[in-house]
Amino acid sequence: LGLAPATPAAAAPSYRDSRLPVSQRVKDLLARMTLEEKIGQMTQAERAAVASDPTLVAQWQLGSVLSGGGSTPAGNTPEDWVAMVNEFQAQALSTRLGIPMIYGIDAVHGHGNVYGATVFPHNIGLGATRDPALVERIGHANAEEVRATGIPWSFSPCICVTRDERWGRSYESFGEDPALVVRMGTMIDGQQGHSVSQLASDDRVLSTAKHFAGDGDTEYDAAVAAANLGKPWWEQRYTIDQGVTVTSRSDFAKIDLAPYVVAVGKYDVGTVMPSFSSVDWTEDGVGNPLKMHAHQELLTGYLKGKLGFDGFVISDWEGIHQIPDPAEPANGGLTAYKVRTGVNAGIDMFMEPNSAPQFEQLLLAEVTAGNVSVARIDDAVSRILRKKFELGLFEHPYASLDNVVRVGSAAHRALARQAVAESQVLLKNSGRALPIRKSAKVYVAGRNADDIGNQAGGWTISWQGNSGANTPGTTILDGIRSVASDVAYSADASAPTDGADVGIVVVGETPYAEGYGDVGGPECGWCTVPQQEEKSLSLQPADKAAIDKVCAAIATCVVVIVSGRTQLVTDQLGEMDALVAGWLPGSEGGGVADVLFGRKPFTGRLPVSWPASADQVPINVGDATYEPLFPYGWGLRTATPGDSLDALRAVAQNAVIAGRARPGWQKLIADAEHAAQSGDTVTAVRLLARVPR
Ligand code: BGC
Repeated sequence: LGLAPATPAAAAPSYRDSRLPVSQRVKDLLARMTLEEKIGQMTQAERAAVASDPTLVAQWQLGSVLSGGGSTPAGNTPEDWVAMVNEFQAQALSTRLGIPMIYGIDAVHGHGNVYGATVFPHNIGLGATRDPALVERIGHANAEEVRATGIPWSFSPCICVTRDERWGRSYESFGEDPALVVRMGTMIDGQQGHSVSQLASDDRVLSTAKHFAGDGDTEYDAAVAAANLGKPWWEQRYTIDQGVTVTSRSDFAKIDLAPYVVAVGKYDVGTVMPSFSSVDWTEDGVGNPLKMHAHQELLTGYLKGKLGFDGFVISDWEGIHQIPDPAEPANGGLTAYKVRTGVNAGIDMFMEPNSAPQFEQLLLAEVTAGNVSVARIDDAVSRILRKKFELGLFEHPYASLDNVVRVGSAAHRALARQAVAESQVLLKNSGRALPIRKSAKVYVAGRNADDIGNQAGGWTISWQGNSGANTPGTTILDGIRSVASDVAYSADASAPTDGADVGIVVVGETPYAEGYGDVGGPECGWCTVPQQEEKSLSLQPADKAAIDKVCAAIATCVVVIVSGRTQLVTDQLGEMDALVAGWLPGSEGGGVADVLFGRKPFTGRLPVSWPASADQVPINVGDATYEPLFPYGWGLRTATPGDSLDALRAVAQNAVIAGRARPGWQKLIADAEHAAQSGDTVTAVRLLARVPR
């Protein structure tokens, strides 16, 4: 009939066929890749390194791009993020095989880099809620906001177990008890969904369990810390923030590895980030610390082998640069030794913010020289590609603007406010100072009463965070004003306290994210001795003065501490009628007022032991000598106790507060709390009944 014979169209490569199983697609794609392309997949650069010339994403064949804390596109609206991620994605797709890149970000307590995102209470406060279902909902809300900006991967949650509040990242921990951290693993489900099939949904993100392992359990060396005081932060942080976990293998397993058993085995976490810290096994003779980034036994043998982790390992920021290279004692830059040690230890993708091309060249040379096997490269790349397929990035590489309204939505803010209320821990309440009557004449003071930046802490707009109105939300003062009608406010408590019925003093820490718990800012303002001291566990002189003044002048005085960790308050406790641990509530500080004024009951319980003095630190439940100011699990309730266990608990707690209990009873209460948490209410009731009324 004159028709030309049909020419068969070139068949699309099978890795593009979404009906095929992921394993088959991975195998097909891997077989088509050159060694250079494979190494590109293993490389992650920072936004700032490619922002001025996005074609570098294609030139370097990058598998991934990240935003470090505070690395945002100009404008910093959700729309700006979508446009930026899509621009990088277009470059990735323009490469020979069109493999999408995966963008990663630290959405560690909400999508805090983005202006207007909901900032949730930090993990330490979420630990106080003892509410895994709430934590899962927060994980999901966070994922909704992150994915709405075109980002499918969050470097969260930190499943560290904090064992020493001098550790400057204690705020990122759900608590000191591995059993509590394990329970809060639900955040991974919230972010990723309940099965791998949900990863491709536009409201889920890939999670990162970090920092593997022992980051919260590093040893504080007072001599090293004293010698480092006043030195630049990158030298100070080695004293504890990126220090050494000195421990036995069995304690390491019980305390530091326990959360990973669940993160991998139960929640199927997609990625794991090694810790900057080192581990030093006591069995092997202390003095041989090994960097986690070089730890083949733990990364490959334990995590991938024993636990069966099938996601990929992403190194921390220039993490392999810290691997000591015997040939280069200066220990600074990247060397072939560090690259091969990291890859052979089991790291699959490398966070090389500013040295991506150098990393790629070094790895290429190491493979060519036979120092890294092609099988190891293929394993790493297969793991990365599998997650990209599961996330649906091949089918839907570009983000739309459809969901940007989710960022900072009213529903998410309401959820955050609920979490804030549930995270407040009532440490002392003599004479029933709380809840406060709405009709009371209230005097509010303290530098943390009206400061969103201080409430939201690090990883908010900038890496180390900053004081001031850096993102929208409600301050604690806003919340108080919305409930009480007669409110006077004086940040430094300098205004007269005329006739107030109740004083509320809100004190505590100012923001930081990393380093030895010190203040932040690109100007390196944290390098000086006074600022270093400001980040000790003691309240600042101005805070102490505000407490003294308000508590002396007003009959009922309530102190709220806004901080990422415990603070030493013993010397002023007697002046206070009520004391509340507020943690770092995030953008919805109004939740603090909800409990202060009895709109909601206090139900939070301490996720860490509260030390009575600096000498006691570190102090953890189960220690041979355990006489904290407030034990692990402590938390008074303003609600009517619902059952006999709660009633007894309240009696026991009040006995201690009123000074009737001996120190030994605090241990007893802590043991009872422990029993109650593990479901053994019979033992809990029996123990609590021994505390005198
Ligand atoms: C932190 C990580 C973080 C990474 C990327 C590092 O300094 O230790 O927790 O994910 O930076 O911002």
